[in-house]
Amino acid sequence: MSAVIIDGKQISASFKEKMRERIVELEAKYGRKPCLAVIIVGEDPASQSYVRGKIKAAAFVGMDSRLIELPATISEEELLGHIADLNADGGVDGILVQLPLPRHINSDKVIEAIVPMKDVDGFHPMNVANLWLGLESMVPCTPKGIMKLLETTGINPDGKIAVIVGRSNIVGKPVAKLLLDANATVIIAHTHTADLKKITLQADILVVAAGKIGLLKGDMVKPGAVVIDVGIGRNSEGKLAGDVDFQSVSQSAGYLTPVPGGVGPMTITMLMENTIECFINRMNAV
Ligand code: NAP
Repeated sequence: MSAVIIDGKQISASFKEKMRERIVELEAKYGRKPCLAVIIVGEDPASQSYVRGKIKAAAFVGMDSRLIELPATISEEELLGHIADLNADGGVDGILVQLPLPRHINSDKVIEAIVPMKDVDGFHPMNVANLWLGLESMVPCTPKGIMKLLETTGINPDGKIAVIVGRSNIVGKPVAKLLLDANATVIIAHTHTADLKKITLQADILVVAAGKIGLLKGDMVKPGAVVIDVGIGRNSEGKLAGDVDFQSVSQSAGYLTPVPGGVGPMTITMLMENTIECFINRMNAV
């Protein structure tokens, strides 16, 4: 058996095409385009590459963006000052602070400083609470992108067993909530899970977000299962790789997302969608 590869690059390209048209309509209606502000602190190459991707995507869909590049030595207070300025700026709809931040800066404090209405990452406690309460909220980009991949591929989680490997606030927990909302029966595995293989073998839908290259092997997957690989890392040859051992899992899974070209492109695309959502919410709140 050989898995159907879910082409996140192609799916995200078609989402972005639709957004381009939508932004033209929004500009005609509201007199300006949505605007995303991205703050990057320091010169971490991976963060810089992610940020470049986000700014490029914004340009592609035709929205405005602002890039605020700050030195790694910036104080927490100064960074909070930049966020306060962007919060107050009527021309900015979405604010994203690229993580991780240097150790002397408290990330929680920074996330909490962004007004929930401009919180395009959906990390603010108010948005997290609203998501779990089933109220209107900004949904974090990676989990939202995973749900869109499933939807676009015609996979309905209703009644299925979904296993998520990883319980982080940015991927594992929110994707568990979204799958629960889609009526899946959800199991979350983590480093204290006694027998990971026993758990993953139950999954109809398996989301792997552990940050451990090649953790999931083919014999841990139920034949025909849908496998979503969230992990991004570099293998021993320096190539991008996911948490799934692609070679063996593609033999047992029914559907599989590749790395690169699976979840990653959808994350950026959902950031664009969240910015449009913030823009519309703000325009309608005025
Ligand atoms: P994280 O905060 O490090 O969390 C990893 C989670 O995986 C933790 O809950 C950890 O359990 C669990 N875990 C680690 N090793 C495990 C193992 N051997 N067995 C079972 N559970 C294990 O990571 P994250 O931020 O969620 O990111 C996960 C991966 O996704 C990373 O590779 C990251 O780069 C990638 N990522 C990709 C995108 C994208 O757009 N494609 C977006 C975000 C993240 P404990 O809680 O017990 O420690």
